[in-house]
Amino acid sequence: MSAVKDLIGHAVDRLADDLETLSRRIHDNPELAYEEVKAARWLGDFLAGQGFTVERGVAGVDTAFRATVETGQGPTVAILCEYDALPAIGHACGHNVIATAGAGAGAALAAVRDTLPPGRVQVIGTPAEEGGGGKVRLIQGGVFERVDAAMMIHGFDRWVLHQDLLGIVRVGFEFSGKAAHASVDPWEGVNALDAVIQTFNSVSMLRQQMRPAARIHGIVTQGGAAPNIIPEVAACTFYVRAPKLDDMWELHKRVIACAEGAAKATGCTLQVIGLEAPYEPLKRNDTLLGLFRANMQSVGAVESPALADRMGSSDIGNVSQVIPAIQPMVQIAPHGTPIHSRDFEAAAVTPLARQGLCQAAKTMAMTTYDLLADPGLLKRARAEFDAAK
Ligand SMILES: [Zn+2]
Ligand SMILES: [Zn+2]
Repeated sequence: MSAVKDLIGHAVDRLADDLETLSRRIHDNPELAYEEVKAARWLGDFLAGQGFTVERGVAGVDTAFRATVETGQGPTVAILCEYDALPAIGHACGHNVIATAGAGAGAALAAVRDTLPPGRVQVIGTPAEEGGGGKVRLIQGGVFERVDAAMMIHGFDRWVLHQDLLGIVRVGFEFSGKAAHASVDPWEGVNALDAVIQTFNSVSMLRQQMRPAARIHGIVTQGGAAPNIIPEVAACTFYVRAPKLDDMWELHKRVIACAEGAAKATGCTLQVIGLEAPYEPLKRNDTLLGLFRANMQSVGAVESPALADRMGSSDIGNVSQVIPAIQPMVQIAPHGTPIHSRDFEAAAVTPLARQGLCQAAKTMAMTTYDLLADPGLLKRARAEFDAAK
């Protein structure tokens, strides 16, 4: 390993206790999408303390930040942090580790800034991944316009270099009927809850005709006020996912048809509510992945094969459609632990998570160093990006 990479490794080891403390603090104070006030402040303060120039509230998003270390004219490489939690189950997606691995990678690069080739390292705080599309707003706000490549990691139950992501579109259905006493005058009512239930039944039938990788899943968000009132308003939200955007939109149309049919069958009126911006699939970049793999191996992480059936969605997909970007999976939980589970939430602050955090911080810092040291690599990543669909 090069001398600079040795120094990067030592810098992360030196900061490991601070990073673990910060990770636990974010974990124990879960904040939902666009409400990550504390996490954004703590991360920004930490990076400022390591010599970064920190801009808070970039692109008009209060809980976004951009921390920059500049060593002269050259390319810009970004390391992304996420720090939003989930409703009810807290940091069950381990974003506390994503955040601190990113901040740790930045800090290690700042520690060797005198030996860094000319260019810019940015640690970008991207809120609201679990819903809200923070990165989509940052893209629209121009945050990635001058960035040559971006990377982030995500916690998982094993190390996987590239895990495909599904495109996702979210849609809400609100049915309106007519209230009536459910025992005295039920025939006077128009039951909006029936329309919701019928939508779920029709979607369940549609599922048989879907391609294996597609996913449709929903929840009832409003189901009536009391059992003795025929529900006059009922609502549900569905997420529709597929590996290709065309297939996703086709499926989206069919899910809307399920709701329209349910409205017709029950005599309700339907309002279709378009929710936040769709998330796009992850565009693979083997140039960046190859560098990440070599560095990952040098810090002792062992790669597992990609998994064809365990796929989610993320707004890093949208970033990967505008610049070369990667999101390797890092082991922070024992094998077999599902993400978005209470077990994963508990795992995200264990010694295994600390180990994943530190190995990920080192790997991202070393990969960033490689890209700054040889801008030919960035050109290759860009050429690969341009050639891919
Ligand atoms: Zn998640
Ligand atoms: Zn996540």
